[in-house]
Formats: sequence, structure tokens, C-alpha cells
Amino acid sequence: MNDRAPDLLTTTPFLPFALPDIGEEEIAEVVACLRSGWVTTGPKTRQFESDFAAYLGGGVEAVSVNSATAGLHLALEALGIGAGDEVIVPTMTFTATAEIVRYLGASPILADVDGTTLNLTADAIQAAITPRTKAVIPVHYAGLPCDMDAILSVAAAHNLRVVEDAAHAFPTLYRSQLVGTLGSDATVFSFYANKTMTTGEGGMVVTRAPELAARVRMMRIHGIRQDAFSRYTATTPSWFYEVVAAGYKYNLTDIAAAIGVQQLRKIDAFLKRRQLLAANYAEALGDLPLVLPADADIASGSRHAWHLYVIRLRDDAAISRDALISRLCELGIGTSVHFIPLHRHPVWRTICHRATSEFPAAEASFASMLSLPLYTRMSDADQRRVIMALRATLSGQMV
Ligand SMILES: *Cc1c(COP(=O)(O)O)cnc(C)c1O
Repeated sequence: MNDRAPDLLTTTPFLPFALPDIGEEEIAEVVACLRSGWVTTGPKTRQFESDFAAYLGGGVEAVSVNSATAGLHLALEALGIGAGDEVIVPTMTFTATAEIVRYLGASPILADVDGTTLNLTADAIQAAITPRTKAVIPVHYAGLPCDMDAILSVAAAHNLRVVEDAAHAFPTLYRSQLVGTLGSDATVFSFYANKTMTTGEGGMVVTRAPELAARVRMMRIHGIRQDAFSRYTATTPSWFYEVVAAGYKYNLTDIAAAIGVQQLRKIDAFLKRRQLLAANYAEALGDLPLVLPADADIASGSRHAWHLYVIRLRDDAAISRDALISRLCELGIGTSVHFIPLHRHPVWRTICHRATSEFPAAEASFASMLSLPLYTRMSDADQRRVIMALRATLSGQMV
């Protein structure tokens, strides 16, 4: 590829790190919802849940919530995690994965990730197990599936519950099966603005266990036995309801679900575009002093969802990660870092008391990583700008 393409090294307009892809279909569905008179949890939410469960297949139930954070909280609550329990989480994740363990008075136990996949491994889980360990939350980092067969088998051997943090992993395949249908206790997806599909804010708890689904459904709406929709739309007098647990206010609105219904119809097209952008990056950046992200093991039927495209600078790169981010920003390109490992944040340092030296893979990755723009609204020209800027910066040319 030609490194000197001055027209592509323009610094404007600024290319954001991420943007949602909202079309006229979503707008029309939201308008219809607003005109319908039903704006909170109701018919659109039910449609979104049944469409989502149908997309995944495998006999799962889908229960919507107003964020993945809420969904993770409710899944662990339904599994009975509480004070004194330990829950193993990877250090290479967003703080939500650990904070929900604290909501329940339990302790997150941070584990290092694999240096290639940046995913939690069965070995790391095995090493972190104590008599108090009750559950593990694997995160399918960037959209790359964890080795779930190995994780589910170590969990089964130690009677641990498994809740998958699939915030990045829709639609990820693991050995020809969609994440969400792999047989863990529950899987939680995120529809935050920058995820592979969005409802503005939102999440979905997916499970094959009817009792778990029922508990989450009740606890997302104050611990009321019957939801507001069936109360207010029943044609017989239905003022009576019973609160049977001190629940939460975690329900998704129909306004958000209206966006989700239309986003879900586009998810295969979104995935195709993400796959193409990832393949373009792999082809155009392969000769630079970078470690490119691991792809899924396609031969075994796995598939990356490409929520993130995380590159790492090799030791022989002539620039630091921080300097590269600044340079790209000067060239009008937004990037990010996923993630500052949890063990580095003040709150988790205080709560978990762990030394950085206990997380060599996460430390080495964090020091050299950055996430490139990768989203469906990026044009081919946008991507060429990113590639040109990287090539020019890493090959030491002035631009
Ligand atoms: C985005 C994210 C979450 C939280 O999702 P919300 O829907 O914003 O609550 C949880 N875990 C990971 C790994 C994430 O990236």
C-alpha cells in the first residue's frame, strides 16, 4: 500500500472512535411507539425479547433489562450469590463485571487473562478457586469467544455457577453455537451505544433455566409478581399485586425496545461489515510492528463478533502507545484503550489488594494496546485514513 497519500492524511473531519448505526427504520419504530401511548415495558419489549430469543435459538428465554450491568447483577442475584461468596472475574474487563459482585456483598476475585486471546482461561479459573468460590464470569473479550468447553468443565468439577459477560459478543459463535446458547447458567448482552447493536442503553439476560428467567423477570420490576403491562391492560379488575421480594428498577422501556427490534433485523448485515473492516485491517497492517488481534478458530466453527479491533505495539515499534494515540488524535482519528485492567483502578486496588505483578499478561497487553475505530458507519475511505495514519506514524515518516 502507498504510504504517501496526502489526501488521506487530512486531519478533518475528526473520525470518532465509535458511532451507533441508527436508520430510518429505528426512527419510525420509535415514533410508532410514542404514538401508541405505551412507552414503558410492554408489547415492544415483549416482541424484542421473543425476537432476540428466536435469533439465538437453542430453547433460550430472553429477559430484557435497562443495561448489561443490571442484567449481570440480576443473574448473580438469581443464582443466590451473596455475602462471603467469591466470584472469579478477569482483570481485563470493564468495571461493571466486578461491581455487580460487590452489589451482592460478595468478593470479585481478579484473574489474569491469556496473553494471546486476552480471555479468561480454565487454568486461571482453576488457580483462583477457593472453598468460597461460587461463580465465574468469563468475558468474551472484544467479541472473541472464551474456550467455554474448558471453562464449563472446570466449573462443573467445582460446582461453580457460570454467567457469561457477552457485552461484546453478539453474535459470536463458539464451536458452531451462538454465545447465549452454550449451556452456562446465564449470558448477558449489552445494547450500550457503542456495542454491536444498541438500544441507547439496554441489556438482555439469556438463559435456558425457566426459574432463573422468572426470578430475573420479577426482580427487574420491584419484586412484583405480575408485571405492570398485564396489570394495566387486563380487562378484568386487576388492581391487586403482591411484592414478594425487595427488587430493583431495571426494566427496559418500549421506546428502547423499539430501537432494538429494528437493530436486531440488521445484525447480520452489521456483522458482515465488521468482518470486512477487520479483514481490511489485518491485510493492511500485517507488516507493521504490531500484534494484531487473534481471530476466532474458524476451523472449529467459532466466529469473532468484532466489537473491538485491539492492536498492540511490538517492542520494536519506535513509538510508545501513548504517543501513538496522541499522534492519531492529531491526525483526526479517535482511538480508545480496552481496558485499563481492573487491578489498576483505585477501587479494586483497595478491595482486592492485588499486586500488578500477579497479572503479567494483562499488564503487558495494557501497556501496548489501543482500540482502532471499527463500526458499521465507517466508510472505506474512513478506514483508509486510519490505515494511512498508522502506516505513516509507525514507519517513522513525517506526516
Ligand atoms: C459495556 C460493557 C458492560 C456493561 O454494559 P452496560 O449495558 O453499559 O451496562 C459490561 N461488561 C463489558 C465487558 C462491557 O464492555
